[in-house]
Amino acid sequence: ITAIQVLDVPVHPYSMDAAVQYLDDKIQEQKHSFVVTANAEIIMMCQDDAEYKNILTNVADLVLPDGAGTVWAGRQLGYAVPERVAGFDLFNRLLNLAAEKGYRVFFFGASPGIAEAAKKKAESLYSGVTVVGCRDGYFKDSDNKSIIDAINNSGAQILFIALGAPKQEKWLQTHLQELKPYITMGIGGSFDVLAG
Ligand code: UDP
Repeated sequence: ITAIQVLDVPVHPYSMDAAVQYLDDKIQEQKHSFVVTANAEIIMMCQDDAEYKNILTNVADLVLPDGAGTVWAGRQLGYAVPERVAGFDLFNRLLNLAAEKGYRVFFFGASPGIAEAAKKKAESLYSGVTVVGCRDGYFKDSDNKSIIDAINNSGAQILFIALGAPKQEKWLQTHLQELKPYITMGIGGSFDVLAG
């Protein structure tokens, strides 16, 4: 699929169903995919953060149109953008997929205790979902190795990372080569929302 350019940031105009299918295929093929759900705030950040823009342009594999602003901008440019693919919605769809297919997931980020609370909630909403590890998002650089080891040793195939944008994408870029999960996705405040 060809990316559309929204303020010079490439966005892939997939529907939610198409995005879930694409990511399921990646897991089946044992290929890596770095997902960003690009809302207007993220696209604006890219305007004066060259490193962030480079991540969305050259490092991320799938950049989805999160938010009415991104969908509107794409349509203004004359592209067919089917619908909004919001980060929180995709997170939930992938939890559902993980429950159905037995994919293992890891929750990294948010304040201490929040990922665990989100795990409990995920287990009640998506029966059979396997959250193989949780780790809060407040750490020092010297903790990176133990965090990466915990993620890799958990056998997770999907890593959800909630450090907020752009921190989560910058952390992923730095450590992408070391990470084993096939799907890596920044989800902002989604653990807080799910945990309630
Ligand atoms: N966070 C974190 N570590 C940090 C900074 C933030 O784990 O060093 C977490 C924070 O607790 C919250 C999330 O990242 O759970 C950021 O949520 P926010 O809604 O601000 O992110 P956005 O959706 O705007 O990217």
